[in-house]
Amino acid sequence: MSATKLNCDVVVIGGGATGVGILRDAAMRGFSTMLVERVDLGQGTTGRYHGLLHSGGRYVVSDPHSATECAEENAILTRIHPDAVETTGGLFVALEGDDEEYPERFVKGAAETGVPTSEISIREALRREPRLNPRSTRAFEVLDGTVDGWRMVWGAADNAVEHGGRVLTYHRVTDIEVTDGHVTGVVCYSEKTGESVHIECQFVVNAAGPWAGHIAAMAGEHDVHVVPGRGIMIAMNHRLVNSVINRCVYPADGDIIVPVHTVSIIGTTDVKATDPDHLDIEQNEVQKMFDAGEALLPGFRDARALHVWAGARPLLQDKRVSADDTRHMSRNMSVVKHDVQGLITVAGGKLTTYRLMASRVVDAICEELGEVRECHTADEPVATGHTYVVTHRFAEVEQMKKSHHGNPDPDPIVCECELVTKSMITELLEKQPTATFDDLRRQLRIGMGPCQGGFCASRTAGIAHEQGHWSAAQSTELLRLFMKNRWGGLYPILHGAQAREAALDEWIYKGTLDLEDLPVTELPLGSELASATRFPAEGGQA
Ligand SMILES: Cc1cc2nc3c(=O)[nH]c(=O)nc-3n(C[C@H](O)[C@H](O)[C@H](O)COP(=O)(O)OP(=O)(O)OC[C@H]3O[C@@H](n4cnc5c(N)ncnc54)[C@H](O)[C@@H]3O)c2cc1C
Repeated sequence: MSATKLNCDVVVIGGGATGVGILRDAAMRGFSTMLVERVDLGQGTTGRYHGLLHSGGRYVVSDPHSATECAEENAILTRIHPDAVETTGGLFVALEGDDEEYPERFVKGAAETGVPTSEISIREALRREPRLNPRSTRAFEVLDGTVDGWRMVWGAADNAVEHGGRVLTYHRVTDIEVTDGHVTGVVCYSEKTGESVHIECQFVVNAAGPWAGHIAAMAGEHDVHVVPGRGIMIAMNHRLVNSVINRCVYPADGDIIVPVHTVSIIGTTDVKATDPDHLDIEQNEVQKMFDAGEALLPGFRDARALHVWAGARPLLQDKRVSADDTRHMSRNMSVVKHDVQGLITVAGGKLTTYRLMASRVVDAICEELGEVRECHTADEPVATGHTYVVTHRFAEVEQMKKSHHGNPDPDPIVCECELVTKSMITELLEKQPTATFDDLRRQLRIGMGPCQGGFCASRTAGIAHEQGHWSAAQSTELLRLFMKNRWGGLYPILHGAQAREAALDEWIYKGTLDLEDLPVTELPLGSELASATRFPAEGGQA
């Protein structure tokens, strides 16, 4: 099969927050830019993170430079991504028995790094957060927020496309071409069509997160030492907290609880992983999360745990600490120019600092060309006219129901947990006819509530079939794959109400629908990747 040939100035490898930020920035500065991502946007670390828009407070003692960057970027992202960021605010809380000196270091560090904070009384903290441990000794308010990584990434990608950027998802880079010491192109394999795509270019930006070392090696550069720092997170049913609750201690396991959409996420651990495509979830880590949650919010252990997943931080090896000690490695970002001209690698940083990382990369490109092109990504909003509120679905559905005035409901609710209606599914499938279950999950939150797909998944498969998007055989296969993936993030945390729910789901799918014994068929190319079966961890934010 002959290769498709394309060309542009800059190819960005990796469709996480960093890569999409670079696409947007470079396109806004007038570069002809193309992003290639082996799966869908936000399916790497960006879709498997904690959901926190850092105020910087977490790093004022351990990593002051990152703290200042987070504080500055927090204000910018809140302004440019109003539909993806929820300004919940946050608290740092010290408990009886915690290191008594840490809060003093926290206050001093915050003043030195420019992270806004002020101490509030325990009484006030308990008024704001009634579930908080009453034996808390000190509480400080900060400007933490929460951010929907997928909404942020898709928003930035759409904005980049408006500026002339191009996005190739399901295109895996297999080679980087170098001629006379300069990059000249990249070769990709299309996961959906099986064809080879060759892109001629002047610059290649390696924004492949924890996979960046592998990409650099394709150009013969073996000096990129990215260490994947694996962390697990658990989504608990309901918003157990109103704002982000951080334990006021040196960064530790399970020290942050983040309210995101309809759930609260506790995290995280930090252990060196050998392969970012295979991230284990160990039972003792799950227990650590429950113990840490119980200390901050008594009764936490009895709440309903919905899902567990893991992600890998793209940390750059830090010579100050041992090669395995990812907990203490710096979160600083790094832009690496290589001996191979035109190749730039970016790693480290946080989702909160994605825009800043992108601007440094595009500055480096301008510098190499000897050109001055100003960065405007902080000035132009990615989204306008829609501010995120957690109750937005409720308001939308209520409005829709009112307009029917008691007539038969033409738009029934398909997913009761996340209030997804039939028209939300059909409209998305009209726009993205090749969307799989997992694409629907990430964009609509289908299967992310307490039933974990038990009720809504079969209904969704029926709708996709009825509308002619999936054949009957494909619907069955995609449903089977979806439920298998949901199970992967369920079994390590099953207890109490969720164990009973899982038994009910099993009965529906095996007892009533006999899903396991229906005939097996071939899935369309790329569906398995879209459903993330290659990655045992589930997509982010539950
Ligand atoms: C457990 C955990 C919790 C975290 N919590 C927070 C938090 O609360 N707040 C915060 O600000 N940050 C947080 N972070 C950090 C943040 O998630 C990451 O810094 C950020 O998401 C990294 O984005 P990225 O685009 O650099 O990498 P990724 O999102 O991993 O993107 C890299 C992309 O490259 C693609 N790729 C790889 N190989 C190829 C190839 N051959 N061809 C094409 N594409 C390829 C991958 O599929 C992937 O999509 C957390 C990280 C972890 C692990």
